[in-house]
Amino acid sequence: MLNSEEMQDGSGSWFGAGLQSSLFFETPAEIYTRVFRALRPRTPAPAFHVEFRRFVNADSSIRLESGGLHVRMSDLLEGAPAPVMESLAYILLCKLFRKEVPRVYAHRYRLYLNRRDMRRKMHLIREIRGRKFLSGPEGAHRRLDEIFEELNRRFFNGLMGRPALGWSRRASRNVLGHFDPSHNAIIISRIFDDPAVPNLALEYVLFHEMLHLRFPVDHNGARRRVHTREFRAAEKAFPLLSEAKQLLKKL
Ligand SMILES: [Zn+2]
Repeated sequence: MLNSEEMQDGSGSWFGAGLQSSLFFETPAEIYTRVFRALRPRTPAPAFHVEFRRFVNADSSIRLESGGLHVRMSDLLEGAPAPVMESLAYILLCKLFRKEVPRVYAHRYRLYLNRRDMRRKMHLIREIRGRKFLSGPEGAHRRLDEIFEELNRRFFNGLMGRPALGWSRRASRNVLGHFDPSHNAIIISRIFDDPAVPNLALEYVLFHEMLHLRFPVDHNGARRRVHTREFRAAEKAFPLLSEAKQLLKKL
């Protein structure tokens, strides 16, 4: 996923300030266990099984099954900051215990989902998953399949299998590109199907999404890293990387 906010600050942390640093070293299961202990200090915490699923929306669920608690979260929340995960843990566990969700957590989670980039991401995913919308690689001015094959030759020795390629329905300035593993599809914002936008900008966005095919999401640790160190290192192979990023800022 490449969004415009990422271009402005690469930190990715959002509620980071003032939080215990230990939060950032917890796995999702550890977060749920800690929240469980806070809500039910006298009950031994069960085993937690946390998984990310490819949902059409951001719905998450929790249920008790053979002595353990199973949590299912949308893969839209992959890479969400730990405090957002923690908030969702409070929401789901409070629902399970029929307790009122503390306002601070309900608010924090809602704020996160309401972020513009999240809303766009959800919209895009509904487009792709809900209606299986895919425009095909041919735009009014540019062909994604040709650009893909050229990048494939230049950077991947022509070895990358071509995913489905399509243009977003609307010319989004927020989500510039997105790789959807469930449909093995790369969606590029229609904003790039325009001769006035330099080719370099489109090439970089497509290259970035191709790297997501190459480097799967890292599920180790509390923060599911979408842009791993290997990802960032591979991205540097792109010539004129900073020029390309500058172009995107100007869009
Ligand atoms: Zn990305």
